[in-house]
Amino acid sequence: MRDPDARIARELRRVLPRERVLTDRGELALYASDGLTVHRGEPAGVALVATRAEAVEVVRVFARSRRPFVARGAGTGLSGGAVPARGAWVVDVNLLRRILEVNALDRYAVVEPGVVNLDVDRAVAPHGLRYAPDPSSQRACTIGGNIAENAGGPHCFLHGMTTRHVLGLTVVLPDGEVARFGGPPGTPAGDDWRGLFVGAEGTLGLTIEATLALIPRPERVHTCLASFPSLGGACRAVARIIAAGVRPAALEILDRLTIRAVEASVFRAGYPERAEAVLLIEEEGSPQEIAAELPAIRAACAAERMLAFEEAANEDERQRLWRGRKGAFGAMGRLNTDLYVLDGVVPRRRMAEVIERIVEIGRRHGVSLANVFHAGDGNLHPNLSFDGRDPEETRRVLAAGAEILRACVDAGGTLSGEHGIGFEKREYMPWVFDEDDLATQRAVRAAIDPHEISNPEKIFPSGRGCVEAGRRDARHAARAERVIGE
Ligand SMILES: Cc1cc2nc3c(=O)[nH]c(=O)nc-3n(C[C@H](O)[C@H](O)[C@H](O)COP(=O)(O)OP(=O)(O)OC[C@H]3O[C@@H](n4cnc5c(N)ncnc54)[C@H](O)[C@@H]3O)c2cc1C
Repeated sequence: MRDPDARIARELRRVLPRERVLTDRGELALYASDGLTVHRGEPAGVALVATRAEAVEVVRVFARSRRPFVARGAGTGLSGGAVPARGAWVVDVNLLRRILEVNALDRYAVVEPGVVNLDVDRAVAPHGLRYAPDPSSQRACTIGGNIAENAGGPHCFLHGMTTRHVLGLTVVLPDGEVARFGGPPGTPAGDDWRGLFVGAEGTLGLTIEATLALIPRPERVHTCLASFPSLGGACRAVARIIAAGVRPAALEILDRLTIRAVEASVFRAGYPERAEAVLLIEEEGSPQEIAAELPAIRAACAAERMLAFEEAANEDERQRLWRGRKGAFGAMGRLNTDLYVLDGVVPRRRMAEVIERIVEIGRRHGVSLANVFHAGDGNLHPNLSFDGRDPEETRRVLAAGAEILRACVDAGGTLSGEHGIGFEKREYMPWVFDEDDLATQRAVRAAIDPHEISNPEKIFPSGRGCVEAGRRDARHAARAERVIGE
């Protein structure tokens, strides 16, 4: 350990119990990457905070020494956001997992950042309420990570992304000051600093408390599965459903490779294996509202030559239909050792055309490509399965990934719908923002974190450009034990 870090470890042990400051290389290895394993960095150490007061003191240690830190929730991120760059320390918030208040009257909950997403929903369900954002990783991912990434999920099509459901935040700024933005209903409104922090990917400080909006649970939920002879047909059916004025709660597509992986796994959902794609459709509302919309949904699917249309008759059947979608990424784990989940967005009207282009890109690079995505939002998730121990295959996967994201941008879309930019896509930022835009964004960050100590080397391009980024990806492919940013 380098001298400054040994000094920091000593300082941290003054504010945390000894066993919650990790410096052993074996233990640190667990913190090298998030769910996107091609990007890795070795942290200088890890601080596990269990109270908000500890979190404040820990950030102050880094602020005084100007050593970088990165917050970490469950580490399910898929853009390299929680990867320690520049030898950063990791602040692990998983022990900060108390639900501090549930207010059914004003419909909000106050939680610590390490609370798991699904646990919020479970805690408020007895009050007839729900926390709407439901990432497919919701059994594991934390509210702090969701806020940092502005997470989405199948039902965000109707209810909106995380930012729509965060009323207030308490944050430790990179200089150690504690700031509160927003709060429960009735809190006087000011400038929307809350909005700035949601989706900032941990680059503006550490969230230590969040006030979340709750909504009533729907009177009725109805789930259907339409299967199609082509992936393009499923995409066009989505456009038709929306054009018909129907607004389901969720519209999720799974393609043939995904269906096969699901059906061969413990997540088996009874999806028709002869289909090229299935579309999972969920409606929420009164029985009358649902009944009124169903004919338009059926007609939209029929117009794209659907093969079959199945309606869940009860909650068990509904859970079965969702099991395949929620377990899709896990099922794909069976296909190979590593999985690169992309996260591009395209205008809905161009979804079918872009998907075709993506399939062609995958074929040309000779990579295994499966698609499972939030079709209602035009949020595509091409999944590339590969063997990360094979440098040549990894190089092809990363090249295909870059080309796919470029195709999304070229179609009038953007780089991320919900996983964030992180380390993965930072070099691609100039594809969507010009120099002035990027300079403004950097200036905001510099005003709050002038020494770049909170999650350095994320979001903003390194300045080395895409060619160098490509070379760097190739180096990652070789899995060199290289520390990011050094
Ligand atoms: C199987 C699977 C399915 C997924 N499905 C979805 C999906 O449907 N929708 C979706 O949006 N995402 C999805 N994801 C991606 C991931 O789960 C989300 O990005 C999630 O929000 C990350 O939460 P986390 O707790 O794991 O955060 P981490 O991975 O630990 O961190 C993510 C980022 O948040 C920052 N951060 C974490 N905690 C804090 C804090 N307290 N203060 C400040 N910054 C913090 C980190 O520094 C990092 O930049 C999926 C991932 C997997 C593996």
